[in-house]
Amino acid sequence: MNLSPAEKERYARQLGAGVLSEEGQLNLRRSTALVTRVGGMGGPAALMLTMAGVGRVIIAHGGDLISPDLNRQVLGSEAVIGQPRAPHFADYLRSMNRFVEVDYVDHEPSDSEALELVRKSNIVLSCPPTFAERLRLNRAATEAGIPLIDAAQWGMTGTMMVVRAGLTACLQCVYPQPPPFEEFFPVVGAISSAIGSLAALEAIKILSGTGHPLFGKMLTYDGFQGRATTMELTRAVDCPCCGNL
Ligand SMILES: [Zn+2]
Repeated sequence: MNLSPAEKERYARQLGAGVLSEEGQLNLRRSTALVTRVGGMGGPAALMLTMAGVGRVIIAHGGDLISPDLNRQVLGSEAVIGQPRAPHFADYLRSMNRFVEVDYVDHEPSDSEALELVRKSNIVLSCPPTFAERLRLNRAATEAGIPLIDAAQWGMTGTMMVVRAGLTACLQCVYPQPPPFEEFFPVVGAISSAIGSLAALEAIKILSGTGHPLFGKMLTYDGFQGRATTMELTRAVDCPCCGNL
C-alpha cells in the first residue's frame, strides 16, 4: 500500500533527493525494530526510529525511573520518577507518531525471550550497559540472521558498531574478553543522545535501503577530545558466536 497523504505530509522533510525515496519510506513502514534498553542511548534511538516512521518499534527495559536517569533518558520526565519506565516510555513514543505501533517489554529479556523478539524484528539496536546483555543480543541476532547495531558509552565517549553476522565481525569477535564494567559509570547525556541517534540513522539506512551503512566498522566519538574515528573490524575465525558461519 502506498503512503497516504497524511504520511506524505508527516515525512515531507525526509522524502526526496539525498534522503529517502517513497519506496525507502515504505520499507521503513514494513519494518520492525527492537531497541533494548531505552535509556540514554536507546531512548533517543527509539524516538528517532518512531519519528522516522519505522512501522513497529519494540522497546525493552526493566526497572523504575530514578532521578539520576534524567541527565540522559529523554523518554522520561520528572512526573515518571519512581514509576516503571517501559510503559511510560512506550506511551511517549506513541504520542509522537500515530503511524507507528509501539510495543514494550518491561524487563530485560532472557536468552530465549531475546531470540523470540529478535525473530520478530528486522534489526536490533543493542543499547544495554552490561556486556552480558550486549552479548545475548549479539548471539540472538547472529542466530536469527538479522543486522545488529551495538552502541556503548562511557563519560563523554561513545562507540557504535554495525554487525551482519557471517559477513562482518560480531561483538564477540571484537571483545573475546568482557570489557571492564562499573555499575554507576559516568556519562553525559549529550554523548548518549548523539550515539543513540547515530545508531538510529544506521538502522534507518539499513531498513530503508538508503546510503552506505557502517557494516563491519566501529565508529568512536571521543567527545572529551572532540575526535571521531572509524575503524574496520576483523572477524575472529575462532569466534564462539559467529566462527561457524
Ligand atoms: Zn564473531
